Amino acid sequence: MTVSTRPLRGKRAMVTGSTSGIGLGIARALAEAGADVMLNGFGDPKEIESLRTRIAADYRVNTAFNDADISRPSAICEMVQDAKQKLGGVDILVNNAGIQHTSPIDSFPDDKWDAIIAINLSSNFHAIKAVLPEMKQQNWGRIINIASVHGLVASTDKAAYVASKHGVLGLTKVVALETATTGITCNAICPGWVLTPLVEKQIDDLAARQKLSVEKAREQLLGEKQPSRAFATPEQIGALVVFLCSDQAAQIRGAALPVDGAWAAQ
Ligand code: NAD
Repeated sequence: MTVSTRPLRGKRAMVTGSTSGIGLGIARALAEAGADVMLNGFGDPKEIESLRTRIAADYRVNTAFNDADISRPSAICEMVQDAKQKLGGVDILVNNAGIQHTSPIDSFPDDKWDAIIAINLSSNFHAIKAVLPEMKQQNWGRIINIASVHGLVASTDKAAYVASKHGVLGLTKVVALETATTGITCNAICPGWVLTPLVEKQIDDLAARQKLSVEKAREQLLGEKQPSRAFATPEQIGALVVFLCSDQAAQIRGAALPVDGAWAAQ
C-alpha cells in the first residue's frame, strides 16, 4: 500500500489484546492502512516495546501502548484518556481481547465464568461507552467487536465463552441501532478457528487427552467443526477490519460477519 492510497491516514485506532494473535494482525493491518494505533495487552515489556516501535517504523504511523487489564472498567477509561493524550483520540475501536476456559458446566469454576464475562463481554461495553461521546461529536467512528462463531452457535464445555460471545452480538446490535443515523458504525466479526496462542492451548490439550501428535490434533480440531479444514488467519481478520473502516462499508451496521470456513453454515 503506497502512502497516497492509505485510506485510514489521520485516523486513530485502539485495539485491545493486540500484543498477540488476531489483535496483533488487526493492529498491523490498520497501521498498514495508515492509522495510528494504541496497542494493549499482556506480555514481556521489552518484546511489546520492540513490537510497538517496529509497527511504527514499518508503516510510518504513531503507535502507543497501554497495559490496561480490561477486566477493570477504570483501567479501560484510563486507556481511552491515554489514547487521547498520545494519539489525539479514538476514531476506531476494536474490542478484541478475549480468553477461554473449557469445562463441563457442572464443574465450571465460578472465577473463570466471572473473568470470561468481564474480559470478553463487559470490557466491550465499558470501552464503547468511553469512546462514543467523542465519536458522536465528530460524527464519525468505527466500532468493531471481535466476537466468534461461538456468538452464533454453541459447543460443549464453553458455557462462559459462548454466553459472552452471544452477548457481544447483542451489544453490537444495540450500539448499531443507537448510532444508526450517525457516521458511526458498529459491527462484529465472528472468526472460526484461527491458529493463535488461544487455540494452540486447546490443540495441546486435545493432543494430551487423546494421545495424538500436535499435527493430528490440529487436523482433528479443524475436521470436527470447520468444513474448509483450513485455519483463518489474523491477516484475513485484519483486512476485514480495514474494510469495515472504509466509506464503502458505511451501511454495514449491526452485522455479525463470519470468517469461519463455513462452520456456521452447517
Ligand atoms: P490470544 O490469546 O492470541 O490473544 C489475546 C490477547 O488478549 C493478548 O494480547 C492478551 O495479552 C490479551 N488479553 C488477555 N486478557 C487481557 C486482559 N485482561 N486485559 C488486556 N488484554 C488481555 O487470542 P486470539 O486467539 O488472538 O483471540 C483474540 C480474540 O479473538 C478473542 O476475543 C477471541 O475470543 C477471539 N476469537 C479467537 C478465535 C481463534 O480461533 N483464535 C476464534 C474466534 C474468536
